[in-house]
Formats: sequence, structure tokens, C-alpha cells
Amino acid sequence: MSADPSGDASGDAIDYGRFDRGHGDALNYWTLDPTLRFEARRVYPDGEFEWARERLEAFGDAVAGPIAENAEEIDRRGIDLATYDRDGEVVNEVRYPAELTETERLTYERFGLTHDPFHAPPGRSEPVSLTHPLTMQALLSYNDAGFVCPASMTVGAALVLEKFDDGANAETFRRLTSRDHDEHVEGAMFLTEKQGGSDVGANEVRAEPREDGTYELHGEKWFCSNVDAEGALALARTPDAEDGTEGLSLFVVPHTDEDGEPNDLVVRRLKDKLGTIAVPTGEIVFEGATARLVGEEERGFRYMTEMLNYERLTNATGAVGIMGRALLEAKIHAANREAFGETIQEFPLMKRDLVELTVDYEAAAAFAFEAAKHYVARETDGDDSAAYRLMRLLVPVAKYRTARMAVETSSYAMEVLGGNGYVRGFTTERLYRDAQVLPIWEGTSNVLSLDVLRVLDKEAAHEALLPYVRDLLDVEHPFVESVAGTVEGRFLELQEALMTLATEDEEYAQYHAKRLADLLFDVVAAAVLVSEAQWAIDEDGDGRKALVADSFVRSRFGDDEAYGVTSGDRSGMERFDAIARYARVDPESLVEAAPADD
Ligand SMILES: Cc1cc2nc3c(=O)[nH]c(=O)nc-3n(C[C@H](O)[C@H](O)[C@H](O)COP(=O)(O)OP(=O)(O)OC[C@H]3O[C@@H](n4cnc5c(N)ncnc54)[C@H](O)[C@@H]3O)c2cc1C
Repeated sequence: MSADPSGDASGDAIDYGRFDRGHGDALNYWTLDPTLRFEARRVYPDGEFEWARERLEAFGDAVAGPIAENAEEIDRRGIDLATYDRDGEVVNEVRYPAELTETERLTYERFGLTHDPFHAPPGRSEPVSLTHPLTMQALLSYNDAGFVCPASMTVGAALVLEKFDDGANAETFRRLTSRDHDEHVEGAMFLTEKQGGSDVGANEVRAEPREDGTYELHGEKWFCSNVDAEGALALARTPDAEDGTEGLSLFVVPHTDEDGEPNDLVVRRLKDKLGTIAVPTGEIVFEGATARLVGEEERGFRYMTEMLNYERLTNATGAVGIMGRALLEAKIHAANREAFGETIQEFPLMKRDLVELTVDYEAAAAFAFEAAKHYVARETDGDDSAAYRLMRLLVPVAKYRTARMAVETSSYAMEVLGGNGYVRGFTTERLYRDAQVLPIWEGTSNVLSLDVLRVLDKEAAHEALLPYVRDLLDVEHPFVESVAGTVEGRFLELQEALMTLATEDEEYAQYHAKRLADLLFDVVAAAVLVSEAQWAIDEDGDGRKALVADSFVRSRFGDDEAYGVTSGDRSGMERFDAIARYARVDPESLVEAAPADD
């Protein structure tokens, strides 16, 4: 039996010292990331992983090679905008470096990221589930969280049109999902206006109906990523529509007409951003721009919620990718850099750092892909299912927590690289700049935590949560069972917290919303890791995941006595090879170990 969770590597500890940097032809982000492979193997629906595995391996190679080189260059050169031509006519021309075009070709045409979830790819009789683009986007984020934005908005826009459009935008759907680079267009989502991003109900852009069935848009959008996308979706208000989100309608607003002439809009400027340089984020003034309604009027926010769920999920798998790359850079550096006569990974504190970063990574990946599993299951199980309720609960928590974890991990990875980590060209500073947007767009931490309250209240998500967590904690191996016991205790506290918030007033509930989301993340991530630990023992005869689960539980729920200094804990040093370098662990050897609360 193979020791590696994905069944395709030896299970020996990874020697990060054999690389001198975190990208290039010698690396493959798929084969070098046993955590990601494990999660993909665990959550791809029946049979799909066998089809996907070799494609992900080829993609991991491309992302570490040409796409990585392109990402550095795009970040260096940036993207320009010409709003007017020399005669003062509006052109709205966004000028991209050639490297970005090559990355698009590889991602969309060769690897089918936006095609394969909608049309049967080679080797399959049906489209692949959304697990596949989500996993690809994690790999892409190893390099370029900026480019992940248009890629994921293209899938998201196509999803909305597939579900809700009555045929008026069939050509846009065809082009969003085309594999042919010359035909392919990208998606975008224009919600935010100056007076409100979180408060989408404050949107004021007007949509006036025309006699030919199209609409014309007037007003201003303040943050438009992928500003020149031909498949952009925008929220706007028709005449006499209700106030708030209820009155919003959704429109496709192409950047140009069939003759290539600019639509009646002005891209006022591109934002001068901290990171995500590969995606142009601009401000748009609609001056009677032609737009086509999606579905029915005044149902736009509901349609957009479908896209938002997907975008929040890709934000989470994207955060996983940033963390994966930051860790890889940190581990390569720690295995090569000498200080005080030793490689720095030999020092107790550095071992502890790298173990803790890896454990956080495992928890983020487990949670994000668990949310993805329920998101995909809901597509077949429907909106009355437990999968739907769990998806609604887990997606905002996944987006909120993994985004913050990506900021923390990329920040610490810079520090592991020392001074170089802060310098352009060493990648960690770019990862950090890119990561910092993850908590902000697609809903801030506070807004997502409030969404969790709403889901608990309106969808009774806790009813699905209780049996689900109990099931995850139903394990057999004595060591894993002992870890599960600690999680069980915290799960009871979570249930008490849920009951308290259900009986308290709205103000009190809001005040504690983020703490509740944190607790949900910790308990569910721990339970998923526990269940994974049993699975890895059963399927692969490997006890490594059990150590990961135990280490996560120690870090989140461990004994606080004298802040742990008196506890005799040396686990970070003892588990370094197993956790940080992915060495195989004999499950028999776990029986003697002492989990967190022993
Ligand atoms: C690089 C970048 C690209 C973007 N691209 C797009 C895009 O393509 N399309 C798009 O539509 N938008 C986009 N955005 C906008 C982004 O989604 C919004 O900035 C974000 O949703 C926050 O909205 P806001 O800026 O209006 O801040 P506000 O809503 O004013 O929030 C300000 C602060 O108040 C907090 N807050 C708000 N309401 C509450 C509450 N009820 N309780 C507690 N705290 C609260 C928030 O958490 C935040 O900390 C982009 C933003 C960035 C930075």
C-alpha cells in the first residue's frame, strides 16, 4: 500500500533542501503538496479524482514553471489603462503584458479550467464537478492570486447564467465556457458602489428598459475587478423597483458591442492597489451602457448570491494556495540557510514554527475542501438537504478564517526568509501583498460572521451541524479517539454558545458573531482532521494525519497552564519530520503518544 495520501509518492520525508527556490522546472506544486493531494482525493466526487489526477499533475508542473515566471513579470510590469484615445474618444483599453495572455492560454485553453465544469472534457462523458476548478485555483494561487480572480469570476458568471438565464445571454455563456482562446471571454461581478460595498442594498445604479428588450445603465461602480471583462455581471435597479437588495436586478454588461466599439461606459481609472496586480480593478461610470437582463427583474441579488458562494469558496481554496506556496518558500529556505553553523531548520524554534505553520495549513485546507464537498453535494442533493445547510454555514466561515490565516502565514513566511523575504523577487512579499485582499473582497470578516448568524437563524443550520460533527468524531483508533474526545468537549461548548446566542438579543449576538465563527472553524476543522486521521490509517496505513489532528487540537484547545511552558510539550520538535516534511508514521507507534488533554 502506498504511504502517500494521494497514492502516488513514496511517503519518504520531503527533502526541501534539494531546491534552491520555490518555482522553476524542477518543481511541481501538485506533487510537492501532499496536503492538497490528500484533500482532493478525499472530496472529488465518485471516480472524478482518477480522471483529474494526471491533469492536476500536469497543471502543477505548468503553474510552477511558465505560469510562475509570468506571475513575477506581470507583477513587475503591471497593467495599464487608456481611457481616451488621442482625439479624446473613449476607448477604455486595458493593456496587458504578453505574459498574462500566455497564462490565460495555458489555464483556459490547455487545461480547460472554465470549460470542463460546463462541457464534457476529453476522457469524460459529462462535465467535471466544481471540485476541479476549485482545486486548480488552489494550485494557481501558489503563484498568482490576482489571476485567480478573473478565472473564478468566469466560472461564477457562467454558473449564474447556466442556472438562471432564459437564453437572452446564451452567447455570453457559450463564450465564457469556450476552450478556444480566440472566442473565450472572462466574467466579472460589479456590485460595489461608493456608498456601499457590504451594504449592497444601497446600490443606486439605474437600469432603464428599452423597447428592443435591452436596458441602459446609468451610474457608477466603485470597485470593478477584471474591469474590461466581456462577460461582466452588474447589479442595478429598474424604475420603481423596491429599495434594498430585494429591488436589484442582474445584467450582463459587455465591454464592447458586436463590432468591437466600446459600450457606453467610461473606465475612469484603475485602482493603484497593494497587490493582485494581475487583475485590473477599476472604477466605471455607466453612461447609458447597453445591458441584458439575466432571468427576471428584481431577483438579481438572489442570482448573485449563487456567484458569491462560489467566489467565497475560491477565496478559501485560493487562500490555501497562497499558504501552500508561502510554506514551500519557508521550508526551502529553512533547509538551505545556515546560521550559527547549522541549517536553520535544525533549531528547536524553527522546527516549531514550521510545524505550526504546516498544521495551520492542514486545518485551512481541510476546512476549505470540506466546504467545497458540501457545496458540490448540494448541487445534486438540492436546497432541502443537509448538504445545502452545511454549505451555507461552512462557506462564510471558510472564507473568513482561511483569508486571515493566509495573511498570517504569508507574513510569517517572509520572516522565515529573513531580510530577503521582504524584498521583491523572493515571492513572499508578493504573496503577502496578494493575501491581504482576501479578507476584504467578497465580504469582510465582520460581514461573513454576521452571515453565519443569519444562516443559523434562517436556515436552522445547527440542526445539520450536530449530527455531522458527531459523525466526523466517530473514530476507532485509540489515539485518534482520544483526540476526538477533546474535540467533543469543545463541541459541547459550541452548542452552548449557539443556544446562548439564540436566546439573547440581536445586538448581543452581533457583538459575539466573530467569536462564534472562530469557534465554528476550530471545532469543525478539528473534527474533519480527526476523521481524516482515521481515514488515512484505514486507507493508507499512515498515522501522520493523526499527529496533525492532535497538534491542531493542542494549538487550539490545549492546556493553558503557564501558557504551556510547564507542560513538558516537545511535540513540535519530535514531530518535525512527520508533520513539516511529510514523513510516514506507523499507526502502531501512536498508541503510546499522549494527546492534548492527557
Ligand atoms: C482589490 C479589490 C478588488 C475589488 N473588486 C471588486 C469587484 O470586482 N466587484 C465588487 O463588487 N467589489 C469589489 N471590491 C470591493 C469589496 O468587495 C468591498 O470593498 C468590500 O465588500 C467592503 O465594502 P466597502 O469597501 O464598501 O466597505 P464597508 O462596507 O464600508 O466596510 C467598512 C468596514 O465596516 C465593516 N462593517 C460593515 N458593515 C458592518 C456591520 N454590519 N457590522 C460590523 N462591521 C461592519 C466592514 O467589515 C469593514 O471593516 C474590491 C475591493 C478590493 C480591495
